[in-house]
Amino acid sequence: MSYLEILDTPPRGAGIQHALFDFDGTVSLIREGWERVMAPVMCEAIAPGEPPTPKIEAEVLEYIDESTGIQTILQMEHLVEMVRAHGKVPPDRILDAQGYKDIYIGRLHEVIRDTVEALEAGTEDSAAHRVPGSLEFIQRLRDRAVTLYVASGTDQPDVRREAACVGIAPLIDGGIFGALRTYQDFSKESFIRELFERHQLSGPELAVFGDGPVEIRLARAAGAIAVGVAASPARDSKPDPARRARLIRAGAHLIVPDFSDLPALEGFLWGS
Ligand SMILES: [Mg+2]
Repeated sequence: MSYLEILDTPPRGAGIQHALFDFDGTVSLIREGWERVMAPVMCEAIAPGEPPTPKIEAEVLEYIDESTGIQTILQMEHLVEMVRAHGKVPPDRILDAQGYKDIYIGRLHEVIRDTVEALEAGTEDSAAHRVPGSLEFIQRLRDRAVTLYVASGTDQPDVRREAACVGIAPLIDGGIFGALRTYQDFSKESFIRELFERHQLSGPELAVFGDGPVEIRLARAAGAIAVGVAASPARDSKPDPARRARLIRAGAHLIVPDFSDLPALEGFLWGS
């Protein structure tokens, strides 16, 4: 398999004017492995004090896979439904979505705290926590006068802090956005819609880069160019098979394992 896998030719328009990046798993690896933190939180919520059955485990993993890219609070709303449906927790002991989110975020922050602090202190190399080539590619887009945005399902203050940690924040001239406390006020879907309205875009003037099926589906629905990033945890410039499969199902025009082959990417996006 070559570096770049073309699944569908995107519509050609006046050229890419705007580019939207998901953050975690697309640019940043700081939260790499968040799925392995969320899965046990979900299993413990559904079946407290007992090992999860294979059925519960499979249901949780499938849900996490499908929902990658949406806001954490929405994943936790679904968790509340799963807890209810399995009937192992008395109704008055079931937490609300924010309660489960607090547990998950607390554990995730324990895992990433040292990394974030070391990156801020400059004692850790930020390149080791970026998807390979992402900073260079983002710089190249800036050189081509493309307006850049980050939109994430992670809480906005955390995305902004971590975007600074991995060194991309100064290049993102269109803004860095994430989930808000009043979470109805932000979603990738409304963000893309507003972008189209504000700039009177035609579809292929926007390119969307993401590792989650959520942003890829939204990009396709809007007629934008959808680039799936299937970064492998091994960082070997080979696509992760599971991520690749879910991005193809979501309708990606193109799959890349990372951004390390700039000429190939530029050739695809600009035909040059
Ligand atoms: Mg992501």
